[in-house]
Amino acid sequence: TVAVSAREVTVDYGSTRAVHGVSFDVRRGEVLALVGESGSGKSTLAWTLAGLRTPSGGTLTHESGDLARPAERRPLSLRRRVQLVFQNADTSLNPRRSVGDAVRRPLRFFGSATSQADAAVRARELISDVRLDPALADRLPAQLSGGQRQRIGIARALAGEPDVLIADEITTALDVSVQAEVLRLLDDLRRERRLACLFISHDLAVVRGIADRVAVLRHGVVVEEGPTEAVFASP
Ligand code: ADP
Ligand code: ADP
Repeated sequence: TVAVSAREVTVDYGSTRAVHGVSFDVRRGEVLALVGESGSGKSTLAWTLAGLRTPSGGTLTHESGDLARPAERRPLSLRRRVQLVFQNADTSLNPRRSVGDAVRRPLRFFGSATSQADAAVRARELISDVRLDPALADRLPAQLSGGQRQRIGIARALAGEPDVLIADEITTALDVSVQAEVLRLLDDLRRERRLACLFISHDLAVVRGIADRVAVLRHGVVVEEGPTEAVFASP
């Protein structure tokens, strides 16, 4: 099943065209990597899918609705299904609130927890789903390591019970050994939860390790797309 589909999508910043007529599909359980030099439009596509920018042309659809509108104008039933995890989960965590709270809030917001008590229980479950000790729920973000915070960012995204997860440079700020753990987690989650994953990275070794297919962006255009091994084998 195709979970998310882009057709001829164009995104502008004022008079700068950052993405030009890009098309791709991501199926449930599949990882599509977007690669390309800095400035090629990867983050713009990630932010557009997440509803933080709107496309100026083309169609962007989820199996249950239209993604060509900002997140705050998507029905919650759709909004929860497409979730973004950033490079620095730190920046999306409130430094004054516990990390358990950071996971509880979207559980309440998206209505998947029916009470505060239920949300607290489910938040701990999500924290162990990302292979962290649920006792960490009471800590502040600054009391966690970078890799632990990145996992909390993933747990928070999972609170919406998404079927599309957009991972924008999520391993970039981490040490190599921690990178491998986060990648293994992502790989397990996409299998267990049949997530359609759009994986953005400039690190080709990382991409090779996780992606089923790769799309290469250059100046906002997809110049090549195919199975990972075929794309890496081409000159
Ligand atoms: P990547 O993620 O591949 O590094 P981006 O999506 O960040 O690429 O950028 C694509 C293009 O859009 C670049 O030319 C960049 O300069 C431009 N761009 C990105 N963000 C903005 C912005 N907020 N305002 C204007 N131009 C931007
Ligand atoms: P803060 O801790 O800074 O108050 P919140 O965590 O409450 O920020 O999030 C700000 C807003 O975004 C709230 O309305 C919250 O319910 C909503 N929200 C939280 N997580 C998500 C998410 N994953 N996707 C969309 N909206 C979210």
